[in-house]
Amino acid sequence: MSKEQVVEKDFMVYRCKSCGRKFYPKHDRCPYCKATEFEEVKAGDTCTLITYTKLYVLPEGIEMPPLTLGIVDFGEGIRALGQIMTDDPKIGMKLKPVWGFLRKIGGEDYYGFKFKPIEE
Ligand SMILES: [Zn+2]
Repeated sequence: MSKEQVVEKDFMVYRCKSCGRKFYPKHDRCPYCKATEFEEVKAGDTCTLITYTKLYVLPEGIEMPPLTLGIVDFGEGIRALGQIMTDDPKIGMKLKPVWGFLRKIGGEDYYGFKFKPIEE
């Protein structure tokens, strides 16, 4: 997969088998009821940009300044931090999770989720 390419991939979160609430990232215990059994479930297909920041001084291995980092909300209390794939982010814009190249660490390419605007 090239570094520019992204693919659609389900963004998985965790659902507590005891209280049924969802959370992300994974914790050892449910943040709501402290139970320890979970199942992986798919978050929604879309999320909303809550806040963002542009980084001009980047961690080593990220090659595309400026980097827009944002917090997105999938609803149901699920929030995630990640790269926002636009130079023109707007609070409240709709995004979808995609899988692609994130950065190089120690010469290795690392892939993960980032968030792409739906209207383009
Ligand atoms: Zn719980």
